[in-house]
Amino acid sequence: DNAQPKKPEWIRVKAPTSAGYKETRDIMRENKLVTVCEEAGCPNVGECWSQGHATMMIMGEVCTRACTFCNIATGKPPEALDVFEPGRVADAVQKLGLNHVVITSVDRDDIEDGGAEHFAMTIRAIRKKSPNTTIEILTPDFIRCDPKVLEVVVEARPDVFNHNLETVPGLYPEVRPGARYFHSLRLLQRVKELDPTMFTKSGIMVGLGEDKQSVTQVMEDMRAADIDFVTIGQYLQPTPKHHAVDRFVTPEEFATYEKTAYNKGFLMVSATPLTRSSYHAGDDFARLRDA
Ligand code: SF4
Ligand code: SF4
Repeated sequence: DNAQPKKPEWIRVKAPTSAGYKETRDIMRENKLVTVCEEAGCPNVGECWSQGHATMMIMGEVCTRACTFCNIATGKPPEALDVFEPGRVADAVQKLGLNHVVITSVDRDDIEDGGAEHFAMTIRAIRKKSPNTTIEILTPDFIRCDPKVLEVVVEARPDVFNHNLETVPGLYPEVRPGARYFHSLRLLQRVKELDPTMFTKSGIMVGLGEDKQSVTQVMEDMRAADIDFVTIGQYLQPTPKHHAVDRFVTPEEFATYEKTAYNKGFLMVSATPLTRSSYHAGDDFARLRDA
């Protein structure tokens, strides 16, 4: 299906040109860090990086999964984990002077613990250098791992544990093959059981072919799993080889999703066309903490 709907005006974004953008880029390069902002071609990069908000992606640039919406290279990762990476991430977070940082990763199904210990080391390294920075992690599903590996990550005490459901269950086979909807839900519920004080977060993209009723159902499933925060954003096709955009959800429809989500009891909701999992994550979290 090559007939893609035309991008509406509410999707246009500004080119990244600010001094802050360049400074963030330099810190990423100096510390040899990969960001999901760049790898995924995120439309918010100009805005986020102007404020130093970069989402660093650990554990390499090659993912062992092949989600059909995602622009990250997939295959067999060429390298083992870099033991110096947690230190470089911590150094970058300190240089950026962030109040809140989001750390994500590729899926590493080739590693026995899925990278859980590496996540934990990264959290500890950031804490040590920037004790006042709140840490949000956006993790893989650790589906091929012993369920115990989740404890390793939770014990490192991130402030927000985020794992995306990405889409409605009916679209998993075509959008997120290799993952299981209920496994991901259960993972987040387990995080809450392990540490009820930890905030949990998840998100989906819309415009992939889902109907409104299944989006509402996902919200209900998330609340049943005690998930605190939700993000809903428009799916954009990174290249013509990726999953097609089914349609552009209007800002009014997003506003309705936002209202529904608050009514269902989420503590924090971001539902706009340009919402991404890490978009304004720090501002939203600070507002919640100070409330
Ligand atoms: Fe990066 Fe997230 Fe901002 Fe996109 S929304 S530029 S991924 S921090
Ligand atoms: Fe992309 Fe994550 Fe899927 Fe890997 S698991 S292909 S990084 S969305």
